[in-house]
Amino acid sequence: MGWQIYRGKKIDYLTIPEWLDLGVKVAFSTRSGGVSKSPYSSLNLALHVADNPEDVLQNRKIFLEELGCLLSDCIAVSQVHGNKVIEVDERKKGIGMTEVGPDLPQCDGMVTGLNIGLLGFYADCVPLYFCDPQAGIVGLAHAGWKGTAHNIVREILHKIQSLGGSIQNCLVAIGPCIGPCCYEVGEEVATLFADDAAGTSLMAETGFERYSLDLAGINILRLIREGIRPENIETAPFCTACRKDLFFSYRREGLTGRTGAFIQKK
Ligand SMILES: [Zn+2]
Repeated sequence: MGWQIYRGKKIDYLTIPEWLDLGVKVAFSTRSGGVSKSPYSSLNLALHVADNPEDVLQNRKIFLEELGCLLSDCIAVSQVHGNKVIEVDERKKGIGMTEVGPDLPQCDGMVTGLNIGLLGFYADCVPLYFCDPQAGIVGLAHAGWKGTAHNIVREILHKIQSLGGSIQNCLVAIGPCIGPCCYEVGEEVATLFADDAAGTSLMAETGFERYSLDLAGINILRLIREGIRPENIETAPFCTACRKDLFFSYRREGLTGRTGAFIQKK
């Protein structure tokens, strides 16, 4: 089955029913059903994009209520396009959920063995969800081209292993992100992925020093290289830039909102 659109009471979101059966709540929001005004309309979940904070908090409540979760039981960090991954413990519960500030952890990956909800924000970047159901560990990563180039996938898998998780048992889901249909990069970025893409269809020349790049595909390649079984990877079949009815896209819209990726052990 893989990723499915779930029609909730107030909003629709994407989820993976098989993960729910394994005791892991996983969700990716859509842009509808919130209270934010244009250009954030309407379910913008990020506080860092200059939207009205009260609207964002209301949107977060709408999204989390649908998932049966409180703001105080979750964490959101300050995403910086790096490859740092933190372990989330009880003391970090509630951080970043009602305000942003300099004291937020600056990182793009979170891992926990506790039932704390991990929340990340996306408008084209690749959302990567991880769970080892046997070890009871979940993780969430945010990978744009920089995080992908710095191989955040390897960092988060190392962190999962350091907490007792196993690569063999680890399931990975890739949420909606910008597809190669809409993601064009210049020479400088293309060079970073030339080795990965060699002999594959992950990168293609589209014009003079312009290339289409399959960022999700590069991450999948890295996951498999780290030992993740290909059959354990679920990829959402959506391009965020093509589907403006469903998602925010930084590439298409510039100033816009962020959809949310959420994962929590039940
Ligand atoms: Zn597209």
